Order: sequence, then structure tokens, then C-alpha cells
Amino acid sequence: MEGVKDFETELEVLRETFRSGKTKEASWRRSQLEALFTLLKEREDDIFKALHQDIGKHPAEAYRDEIGTLTKSVNYALGCLKEWMSSKKAKLPLAAFPTTAELVPEPLGLVLVFSSWNFPFGLSLEPLIGAIAAGNVVVLKPSELAPACSSVLANTIHTYLDNQAVKVIQGGHVVGEQLLQHKWDKIFFTGSARVGRIVMSAAANYLTPVTLELGGKCPAVVDSLSSSWDREVAIKRILGGKFGTCAGQVCIGIDYILVEKEFTSTLVEEMKILIKKMFGENPKETNSVARIINKQHFLRLKQLLDSSMVNASIVYGGSLDEDNLFIEPTILVDPPLKSAIMTEEIFGPLLPIITLDKIEDSIEFIKSRPKALTIYAYTNNEKLKRRMISETSSGGLTFNDATIQYAAETVPFGGVGESGFGRYHGKFSFDTFTHEKAVMRRSFLTEFWFRFPPWNDKKLLLFKSAYNYDYLGVILVTLGLKRS
Ligand code: NAD
Repeated sequence: MEGVKDFETELEVLRETFRSGKTKEASWRRSQLEALFTLLKEREDDIFKALHQDIGKHPAEAYRDEIGTLTKSVNYALGCLKEWMSSKKAKLPLAAFPTTAELVPEPLGLVLVFSSWNFPFGLSLEPLIGAIAAGNVVVLKPSELAPACSSVLANTIHTYLDNQAVKVIQGGHVVGEQLLQHKWDKIFFTGSARVGRIVMSAAANYLTPVTLELGGKCPAVVDSLSSSWDREVAIKRILGGKFGTCAGQVCIGIDYILVEKEFTSTLVEEMKILIKKMFGENPKETNSVARIINKQHFLRLKQLLDSSMVNASIVYGGSLDEDNLFIEPTILVDPPLKSAIMTEEIFGPLLPIITLDKIEDSIEFIKSRPKALTIYAYTNNEKLKRRMISETSSGGLTFNDATIQYAAETVPFGGVGESGFGRYHGKFSFDTFTHEKAVMRRSFLTEFWFRFPPWNDKKLLLFKSAYNYDYLGVILVTLGLKRS
């Protein structure tokens, strides 16, 4: 295949850089992170423009979710780099005396990062920060569905960063498939479970380790909050996290809400009031709701509403403008659980509310479905919180807010089960692109005679004592005072 050959030449340049050892130097890593910081600062307008062009993101949203979080991450990595790069001493059992051990972080080598289109900068540069901090050389393949952003990434990274070590390769699934035929030392993939499976099977050819950052349906449990203040704050956070963040095209966005039947009308009525306050009477005009990425996704979302049963469940919104790829924030109550809107990831500004007899039923509801990337629960009920923590499984669990975990460097970001595996952000990113090498050091001074053949029963006894931390036993057996 011609494409494969072409990439091989480019990849060989990166491999050669890695072999030279330059990316292992702290000074190189620091200079690249600083260059990324400068890029984000100096090319802010280009980034704003591209995000608006591709997804209709308002600059305020773009700064909050992409430039701002990335700037924070680069600064954090720069502040922690020395500590992350340092070797860590490891404790050893007395039986290993006289030995010392340390864990030495070493870069993996040539890394491939695939990113998605909904946060084209965040999902590309956040893993890049980790990969560079860890001393790797990197190929980044951004999503073809956000072409303006992809092109800004290609142009700026080429200019600001070491282009012998970091390369952006643009293209769609064909380029993606061609890249997967090469040998990588790590593949970091953000996208759908469907392509995740393709990535994993390609990675198996070279036993390449992979991280899969996938999606799924993230539920939000909304308890019957009695205080009007708590309700208002909870609803604002739900609406902001759903409709005010890339129009719901977010892997950790709220996919659907679970609520007690008796609380549903209060919740819906207050949501309607606050939607108007947040997005205006005509949300299309206020530019506070991003656009759907393309016609195909627009039609996919339209189709989710297209059965009479689902359509009848709309209690707010529901208007679609295909020419402008705009979908109004839409709330539905009790669409059929078997309809596509409740079985497929929505990834758009449609928000089904599913009613339950009691809020505790939400736990079984969630447990009977694939493990989500995140679960949200809005409640003051400590018992419910404890049950959610211990009885459900998900990549993350956030109480009383939405999507904030993405900006926290000190907690790992990643999925479990069908929402993916592996984790990143902050030190977790560094670890994702690092191999911790176990380095043992022994001196020649002492040796335990019983470690070597010829074997006999006394040596067996000594092993049994030593491996069971019975050091008195070791002494007694050695002195011949213990024989069984
Ligand atoms: P996608 O799987 O279609 O594409 C992801 C990347 O893979 C893109 O760069 C794309 O060009 C590439 N690709 C597509 N087909 C390929 C192939 N056959 N071989 C190799 N590469 C290929 O996903 P998407 O549409 O970009 O994103 C939507 C999905 O991603 C949703 O499920 C969403 O939940 C998930 N997502 C997850 C996260 C996260 O952090 N966990 C973030 C954003 C999106």
C-alpha cells in the first residue's frame, strides 16, 4: 500500500529522534511544553475561529473547555515535571537483603494519538501533553470531522513544536487504517467503541498497548431536592453541562435523567424556566448552543426523535434547523426504553427524562446497562450517595455537578467496561505514556547459600521460613535447631 510506505518514511524520522535520546532530556520536554503554552496563547484567535467554524462554539465556551483547560494542564505538567520524571525508591522484603530497588520512568517511544472532533484541541493536546512530558515522540491524527481545527493543529504544531518529534497527520478513516498498520509503542484512542475495536485488533499485531477513551450513555440521577436553591443550582448545572457544552456532543455529557415520578413535573417546569434564562427565548440567535458537527450527525439525531412514541414524549423544544445544523435544547419525558434514543448514545441536545417509582430504583436501572464513562447524581441523601459509590461501576462518579471532572488534573479520566480503559490527565497522562522500569541493585558482599542447588530438605525448610517472613525460623533451621 502506497500510503503505508509514505508514513514509514515520516515515522522513521520520529523513531530516529527517539533513538537519539533527545526527547528523554528534561530540557527538551520542558521546551516542548512551553512551546505548547505559547501556541495556546499566541494562536488563541485561530483556535476560536476554527472551533466556531467547525462546531459553532462560542469563544467563552471554547476558552472554558479547550484553551483554558489546556493552559491549566500545561502549567500543571511544567510544575510537576521534575517530580514525575524522578525515580521512586521501592521497599523490598528483608529476604531480598542486601538489595535496593527503584522504579525508573522511561518513555515508551513512538506514540499514536487518535482524537475525536467534539473537543478537537482538548482531546488532541491533552494526551499530547502527557506523551511529551513522558519523553515520547508522537503522531497525532485529529478528526477529519472538524477540518478547520484539524488544520490549525497541523499548522501550529509544526511551527511551534519540534517537528522531528511531533507530527500531525490529517485524514479520515483510510488514513487512520493505514496508520494502524504500522508498529507503534502505544496507541491512545479517543472515539467510538466501533473504531476502538478496530484499533485494538490492529494493535494486537504488534502487541501494542492501547488506551481507549470511549463513550456511552451517562445517566444523571436527580433526587427530589426540597430546597429551591439546591434545585436551581442542580438544574443550572444539568442544563449547562448538557446544552451549554458542545450542544450535548460530549462523551461525559448527561445522556438521560432518572427521576422520581412525583418530582418530574416540578423538575420539568423549573428546567423550562431556566433554559429560557440560560439560552434565551430563541437559543439559535444567542449563539450559546453549539451546532451539530455535520449533516450526518444532524440526521442521526433527527432520526432519534422520528418515531411517534418518542416524538409524543417531547415536553420542551424539538425544533430542528437543518440548514444551520441547529437543534433546540429538547426535553423528553419517558420515551420508550426500547427506542433508539434510550439504547444508543445520544451525543446531542436531546435530554430524555425517565421516571421511576422511587429514586433508589435508579441503582438497578444503571446496573442493568453497560458501564458508563460517568454517572452523575444530584442529591443530598448521604445513604443514596454511599449506595451509588459502592453498588454501581463507571469511569467516574460526580455528585451535584456535570463534566467538572474533566478539568481536574488530580483525578484520573477514563472509562471502564464498554466506556473504555486506561486513564489520563495530570500525572495519570504521564503514567499512561511511561513504562516504569523496575531497577534492582545488589552487591556481591553477601549471599544466602540455600538459594542454589543441590536441593535438600533443609533448603526447602529455609525457603518456607523466609517466604513466610519467619526470620527466627531461618536462624533456627540454619543452626540445625529446627528440622520440620
Ligand atoms: P470515531 O470513532 O468515529 O473517530 C475517532 C477517531 O478515529 C477519528 O480521528 C477518526 O478519524 C478515526 N477513525 C475513524 N474510523 C477509523 C478507522 N476505521 N480506522 C482508524 N481510525 C479511524 O468517533 P468520533 O465520531 O470522533 O467520536 C464520537 C465518539 O467518541 C462517541 O462515542 C463519544 O462518546 C466518544 N468520545 C469519547 C471521549 C472520551 O474522552 N472518552 C471524548 C470524545 C468522544
